[in-house]
Amino acid sequence: MSNASSPAIQISPFVQQVVDAVAGVVGRRDGVVPLHAPTIEGHAWDYVKQCLDTGWVSSAGEFVSRFETELAEYIGVKHAVAVVNGTAALHVALRLAGVEPGDEVLMPSLTFVATANAVSYCGATPHFVDVSEATLGLDPAALDARLNDIAERRDGGVFNRKTGARLAAIVPMHTFGHPVDLDGLLNVCDNWGLTIVEDAAESLGSFYHDRHTGTFGRLGIISFNGNKIISTGGGGMILTDDETLAQRARHLTTTAKRPHTWEYIHDEVGYNYRMPNLNAALGCAQLERIDDLLASKRRLARRYAEAMDQVPGVRMVAEPQGCRSNAWLNALLLDEDHAEQRDPLLAALNDAGLQSRPVWRPMHELDIYAACPRADLPITRDLAARIINIPSSAGLA
Ligand SMILES: *Cc1c(COP(=O)(O)O)cnc(C)c1O
Repeated sequence: MSNASSPAIQISPFVQQVVDAVAGVVGRRDGVVPLHAPTIEGHAWDYVKQCLDTGWVSSAGEFVSRFETELAEYIGVKHAVAVVNGTAALHVALRLAGVEPGDEVLMPSLTFVATANAVSYCGATPHFVDVSEATLGLDPAALDARLNDIAERRDGGVFNRKTGARLAAIVPMHTFGHPVDLDGLLNVCDNWGLTIVEDAAESLGSFYHDRHTGTFGRLGIISFNGNKIISTGGGGMILTDDETLAQRARHLTTTAKRPHTWEYIHDEVGYNYRMPNLNAALGCAQLERIDDLLASKRRLARRYAEAMDQVPGVRMVAEPQGCRSNAWLNALLLDEDHAEQRDPLLAALNDAGLQSRPVWRPMHELDIYAACPRADLPITRDLAARIINIPSSAGLA
């Protein structure tokens, strides 16, 4: 019979040092410190109550257009279309970028599953390319090498010579809020005539040079899921400077219903993807607080970096040169000779009530995406074995 209390697990001095460093930054807290909790404050109660009091709770109402206008202004994009979540935003953005059934879409394997799923919803296939260690995002050199290896221009498009499929778009993703090398990617995509759809789901408040992420591609998307930097409960936004695309986005996300006083005329198979007013009300209140949230996030990231500077064998993933990250999710990167400590460290952090997780399982290692075309992915594999996300709520700073 085993003892009621679990036997003391042997913890290495390294693991203990990292746990102490994280605990030192987070301070004493009751219960488990979550990986990421929303910070609800300011006018949230007031705005949501206005929806309840007026009965405007659903997919029409003043908060939806107000949230779109204010978010577009904050980001510096001409049009923002609010939808039910970031995955839906990406699905529609890909459709509007011209992704068709049978196409392939180039993207990192190191991403949240939604990036690949949105491609699948279009009937297209993800095609994985490696990331760079500096940004954790798509590596322009790897993308260029892959295109030189497999792509050919014909019939006004770019095609994969091996599969025969059209390469319809590329989807860079700003991992944990750290901007990807956009100049490099834009360069490669201009050369090949490929369309960029930016998955900026995690990077609201992140800037590449002086421009907000999500504004570099033909279209971009943001997520307001419960764990993102601001939350609408669930929600997403499609971003574009193109008026026609914005109108198409609105149309397609409201069941493609033609404006008419009483008739139900739908001129294509659309989606019921519009954001409800209740969620937008929360979004308006959250957006008012974004500067403070960003300051807190960056303070927390700085304190983690200082603490990890004292621990040999590990460092914090830093914001790329020339960028300003929203510091959404803090990531530890174990040195290569400490990679085998990842799982013992995850166990010890979680045992200590500091909710921590490895990075996502790379897409090409999931059964659902294992058969997709892919380049060599050495950096993806290496990073996936060494990254640990640690508690990152703005409230911890
Ligand atoms: C969160 C996220 C999404 C999807 O957003 P949801 O609002 O959860 O649907 C897409 N891509 C990435 C990289 C994300 O982190």
